[in-house]
Order: sequence, then C-alpha cells, then structure tokens
Amino acid sequence: MTATTPADVYYSETGVPVSQHFDDIYFNPEAGLAESRYVFLTQNGLPGRWQSHLHADFRVAESGFGTGLNFLSTWQSMVENADRAMHLHFISFEKHPLSLTDLRRSLANFPELASYAEQLLSLYPPAESGCHRLLLESITANQRHRITLDLWLGDIVDTLPDWLPGAENTIDAWFLDGFTPDKNPRMWQPELFQAMAVSARSGCTFATFTAAGAVKRGLQAANCKVYKHKGFGVKREMLYGQVQPAEATAERKVLTESPVIIGGGIAATLTARALAQRGVTSIIVSEGIADAASGNHQAACYPLLQAERSPTSEFYVSAFTFAQRLYRSQFSAITHWHGVSQIAVNPEREKRYRKVADNLYSKELVQNLSSQLEPDTVTATTLAAGGLHYPTGGWLQPQSLVQQCLHDAEAQVVQQRIVDLVKTAEGWQLNCADGSQIQTATVILAAGAGNKALLEKFDLALQNVRGQVTLVKASAERQHQQQVICYKGYVTPPHDGLQCVGATFQRDDDNTAVRAADDAENIKTLQQQLPGKVWQQDFAVAGQRAAVRSTTRDHLPVVGALQSGLYVIGGLGSRGFTSAPLAAELLTSQLLAEPLPLAQSLLHRLRPERLQRRPLT
Ligand code: SAM
Repeated sequence: MTATTPADVYYSETGVPVSQHFDDIYFNPEAGLAESRYVFLTQNGLPGRWQSHLHADFRVAESGFGTGLNFLSTWQSMVENADRAMHLHFISFEKHPLSLTDLRRSLANFPELASYAEQLLSLYPPAESGCHRLLLESITANQRHRITLDLWLGDIVDTLPDWLPGAENTIDAWFLDGFTPDKNPRMWQPELFQAMAVSARSGCTFATFTAAGAVKRGLQAANCKVYKHKGFGVKREMLYGQVQPAEATAERKVLTESPVIIGGGIAATLTARALAQRGVTSIIVSEGIADAASGNHQAACYPLLQAERSPTSEFYVSAFTFAQRLYRSQFSAITHWHGVSQIAVNPEREKRYRKVADNLYSKELVQNLSSQLEPDTVTATTLAAGGLHYPTGGWLQPQSLVQQCLHDAEAQVVQQRIVDLVKTAEGWQLNCADGSQIQTATVILAAGAGNKALLEKFDLALQNVRGQVTLVKASAERQHQQQVICYKGYVTPPHDGLQCVGATFQRDDDNTAVRAADDAENIKTLQQQLPGKVWQQDFAVAGQRAAVRSTTRDHLPVVGALQSGLYVIGGLGSRGFTSAPLAAELLTSQLLAEPLPLAQSLLHRLRPERLQRRPLT
C-alpha cells in the first residue's frame, strides 16, 4: 500500500467538479442532491426503513465516495427522519480522494448540507491508503456520536479483500456509485458484486444510477434480485433490488453482558468509553486510575513511520490519524496540536528520515523538518539539524484524558488488584489480591505493564520496560516553545510552567522508585543531541516520575481475542496515547460484531497469539 493519488479535478461553468482521470462528472449539474435522494435513498427504501429497522445501527456501503454528497444526504435524512437512538454506519471506498480544497469547493454547491459538510471537512483524513474512521454528530454530553464514516482509501478491487472479512453479514444497503461502467469498468467487477453478498445482512438492498447490462448480469450472478426503475431526470432507467446474504457467512458472536475490563489507564478507559458510546456499560477493575504509564505530566502524539510502507507504518498511519481526530474533536481542551519535530541525531537517522519524508507518505502527515514554514522560536534553533516534521502532531495531558474517558464511560469501578485469571464453565474467574473473586463471561485485559504477569500462563512474550521522565522548569527563552521536539528522547512545550524531558529505557526493570541518575541521563541526552544555546543552560529539575511500559518485539500493539471470552489490548509501548484510540475502537467493534476499522492484513499482525512462544494445547 502507498499514499493514494488524489483526484485530479476541474470545474464546469456551473461549478460541478469533473474528474480528469475518468472524464466524468461527480454529480448532476442541475440537481445533485435531488438525484442522490432519488437514486440512493428512495430506491433503498429510505428513510422509511429506519422506522422498522431491527438493529440499533443502519449500515450503508458505497462504491465511490467522491464528494461525499450521498453520505451527507444520508446523514441529513437520518437526523431528520430516524429515531435519535439510531446510528448510521456509512462505509465508502475511494481510489482518488478529493483534496480538502476541492472537497470544500464541491460541497459549497449544497448550502442545505453546510452544517454536515463542515463537520466532514474538519475531520477529513489525509490521502493515505487504508481505513479512516470518522466519528461525527456527537449528540450527548459524553460525546456519543450518531454517525460513523469508514473511508477506505485505495482501489476498491484491492481493498475489498482487506475489508470483507471484518464486515461479513453486517450491511443493510449498498450504494453503487462509481463513474459510468463504460468510462470506469474496473469499478464494476464480479469481486464487488460477490462482496455485496458476503457483506449483506438479512434484508440488504442496493441501488445504482446505471442500468448497464453488464452491471445487471454481474448483480444477478451474485444472486441479487434486480429490478429496473425510471432513472432520475432525463435518464431512462436505473437498477435497484435485494442482496441475498451469502450462505457461508458465519454470524459473529456479540457481547451480551457487561464485560470486566482489568486496568485503569488509557487502554482500559478508552475501551470502556467506546463501549459506552454503543450503550454497553463496563466494569473496570483496577488498583488505581492513571497511576502507571498513563499518569505522566504530558504525552506526545505522532506516528511511527518507517522508511518503507511496512505493516508497522501502515498501522501507525491509521492509528495516529484516528487518535488525532478523536482528541481534536472530542478532547479539545486538554490536547494541543502545534506539530512535532523529530531531529536527526546522526547521519544514519538523517538518511532514514530523508526517505520517510520523500514520497512514501502524504505531506499532510510528514515533511522534511527544513521545509517547515513557521517554526516557533525555540524549534527554529534546532532546525539546522535536519529531520522530520509532523504538522498535525501534538501533545496532551494524560491524567485529564484518562479521567475524562472514565467519566464518559459511566463504568462501575472496582478497586482491586487481579492476580490470576481462571477459565470456568461459564466464563472467567478473576482472583483478587485480597482473596475475593469476580466471575464474568467476558474479560478484557488492559492493564499495561500488569498484562505481562497475568498473561504468563498463556506464554505470551511481552516485555516490560521502565521509563523515567524528568520535569524541568521552563526558562524564559523556552516559554514560547509550541512543538514537541524529539531526538533520542523528547522535550515537550511548557505546561503549568514545566516541561517534560523523557525518557529512560530500562528493560525488565519494574521498580518505579525514582532515581537521580535518570534525571541526569535525560538532561544529558537532551543537551548532547539538540543544537542551539537555549538547550545548553542549566535545567532546574522540578520533579520526576517513573513508570513501566509494556512492549512487543514488533512494536505493534496486541489487540483481540486470546481465548473465548478473554480479550487483550496492550503492548502499547511508549506510544500508548497514539495507538490506544484505534486499538480500543477496533476491540469494541470486534466485541460487537460491527464492521472493523482496520485492514484484515493488519488485524492479523495485532493478534495476541502472534506473541505466543509455543502454541497452546
Ligand atoms: N458517491 C459520490 C458522491 O456522493 O459524491 C460520487 C462518486 S463519483 C461519481 C465516483 C467515485 O468513484 C470517484 O470519486 C472515483 O474516484 C471513485 N472510483 C472510481 N474507480 C474506483 C475504484 N476502482 N476504486 C475506488 N474508487 C473508485
């Protein structure tokens, strides 16, 4: 996978976007919104079906996101016609995403949709392949959202195999909207029609603006019931009908009662929050809240991008962009987005960073540090060194974030330390340090460094790594530092007059007593690696904190089921605040048998079993 090629568009005299790639218009010049409603909503039985729908979610899949017009008109109709409890999950595939500027200009054609378009524009993802999940239309104080958009960027024929295994038996309506089959035959392949059947749940329908014979035959070959209807405006005919769910698809098991989540940090509380947003309350069992690795003064958020599009890079592209959108839209008061700069501390890194900034990723995600336009005064002194700049990166306040997640989750909190997990006939028995026991059908292990001991009996190779951060007083010159600056360590912008300098890295050391030698090491590394006199002055140490992170050998987190009723979310390493939001969203989608927000090939890389030293008998 690569960064995608953005759409190449020009505009007609009436302001309608036209694709250079496909030589076709994106929507009807006279009545784009009316056509969208006529073809895609009405012929799929909407909004009427929302009144009698048997599920809390209505799920649409669309071939060709384009300007998002169909998405916005469906969203508007849902808000105006469906019960407030109903949730819309809209999944759309797009090979050539419009740039933000083109999207804004195209959607300006529809003033009626302006308030929805604004929300979409504010969270529109960079042109990176893979799944981008957007949570929109928050309707309650705890940010329960009504609309989920999964935008899968990449050619639909290549993307479907990565999407389909996580979406079997889930879709209620298909919108087929690629450009016309004669101009774009690749969109209308048997793979698409077969995927419709595999993804369909009972009662699934479809509609498309075209009545081309090849499309009709393709749909019929995939066992769809196909009907013709008068086309919109001057168009003669269009197709609509029913999608018969493929017989072979297995129903995924859905969580039926409150799960127990072990842990009180970012992984545990974000998972409880994501479940609460779907109406599932959790029981959180932990000795403390944000008292371990999630308890630092500040945490940076930026992606781990390697000098090739490895699975690790792919995961962090999705995870970082998801985290950033979530924090920026739902935790704006405690998160700060002024960029992250990463200094090349030796020639080998400089070479690697040059590859990263070259053409592997979109410029919205990462650039050469020297091309950064407006560095703050402190960062400017370090620019000469060269390196990477993440324009949308930033930092956040971990403790406040975890507390807010816990508040939003409305979970029951049980203050206990779990020392063992035992499988029973009904589920799992959790043995507490005080000798008491908790029984549950579903347990989610989200205990950070605590996962290691609890997973010992399952022979999972996790490694705990101690890290100490040093708090230093922000001098007058450093008051205006806005960006996080990374080198071998990192230094954050001032918050409450203090900066966080981190962090040491001590394998298999679980001792959280603080050490003066670690403060000296943190400051020495900073002074050795950052050019500029602002870093050479004395640092007044104002505090320190040591905690233990849980890491994996492949730098990817652990997310998913380990055994029936036993799930793990962990191995987040030093990047927990970047990877936890997507990991929690993914685990929640797995637990509730929703379409998943990550490619199957990456999902596979996160499975807990991959870390098993030997297969369990
Ligand atoms: N539904 C859109 C809307 O509401 O604005 C209009 C879709 S436009 C007519 C067709 C879209 O399909 C274009 O954005 C085009 O880039 C996309 N497309 C064409 N071929 C594709 C392919 N093979 N895979 C994914 N998307 C494709």
